[in-house]
Amino acid sequence: MKEIKFIAQASRDEPAFMVTIVKEESNLTARCTCPEGGVGHICRHRLSILSGDDQMVISDNAAELRVVEAWVVWSDIGILIARLAQAQWRLQQVKQDAERSANSFDTAYEEVRTIKRLLVQAIND
Ligand SMILES: [Zn+2]
Repeated sequence: MKEIKFIAQASRDEPAFMVTIVKEESNLTARCTCPEGGVGHICRHRLSILSGDDQMVISDNAAELRVVEAWVVWSDIGILIARLAQAQWRLQQVKQDAERSANSFDTAYEEVRTIKRLLVQAIND
């Protein structure tokens, strides 16, 4: 069994938590001491570290993220993290498309209202 611990902090105004990554044979587990870190949830501390991102790591062993990255690549977690990143990217695209559509709708709706108002004026004058 191999184990690596990191201290992770999502932002300066939030407390720091301990993330423990354990590799046993081909099985990889990640635990976090934060309130969202319980069973049934994936907190951003674990997700960040499992993604190989050093932004949240405040312990002096950020270099060990490369080891975790190698473990993740060869586990089922690696595939799911890659899929999650793709799905999040697609969600972002759909959100942007929806915002553009909403703006187009507002513009078209305003144009119809303006023309109707002009038409009413023209008919009544
Ligand atoms: Zn956490």
